[in-house]
Amino acid sequence: MSFASLGLIDQIVRTLDALAYHTPTAVQEQAIPAVLAGRDVMAAAQTGTGKTAGFTLPILQRLAKSGEVGSNAVRALILVPTRELAEQVHESVRTYAEGLPLRTMVAYGGVSINPQMMALRKGVDVMVATPGRLLDLQRQNAVRFNEVKTLVLDEADRMLDLGFARELDGIMKLLPKKRQTLLFSATFSDQIRALSNQMLREPVRIEA
Ligand code: AMP
Repeated sequence: MSFASLGLIDQIVRTLDALAYHTPTAVQEQAIPAVLAGRDVMAAAQTGTGKTAGFTLPILQRLAKSGEVGSNAVRALILVPTRELAEQVHESVRTYAEGLPLRTMVAYGGVSINPQMMALRKGVDVMVATPGRLLDLQRQNAVRFNEVKTLVLDEADRMLDLGFARELDGIMKLLPKKRQTLLFSATFSDQIRALSNQMLREPVRIEA
């Protein structure tokens, strides 16, 4: 199995070659075609399975191909539980977006909000954020959600463990109803299942 055979464009396959990613992982094999097809996804995947590339690569491809580059509104939103994970996921997003005309940013709490507001004003296609800071930015009118096409909940179980259920609910209410949603979680508790039922439409189920 190759990345090209999963439907990824040459530009992205070249980036992966340069990173010495030659073979997709199990989660990538399942997630990439589903996300490219516009499906919702519910994935049981631990850290280390290659899940970040599994959701990021097809999102970047869909955005790059949509021809809407240049709009100032966020089109893909990746929610993560902690600032460390936010930094890590954003670093991956930047690496995979190399050579694509897409703007990315990361936003988390505990640091000044002003640079994040300024970055948003310049225009961002892919935003990685923790839930609390994202809502702070929204309350300041610094971010608009009306063009969000894809939402990712990464490490959804940890987001609930850290008490972000209300924030997630608040964010969900602000997002377009017609969107693609991808939920990644290491574990599937009743609470995660309830969140999935509420947020996902006929998801493709993935076990890595
Ligand atoms: P993740 O599970 O997303 O945290 O990724 C775990 C690690 O695997 C990261 O350091 C990636 O750079 C690396 N990785 C992801 N996909 C591949 C792949 N297909 N081949 C080789 N390394 C990969």
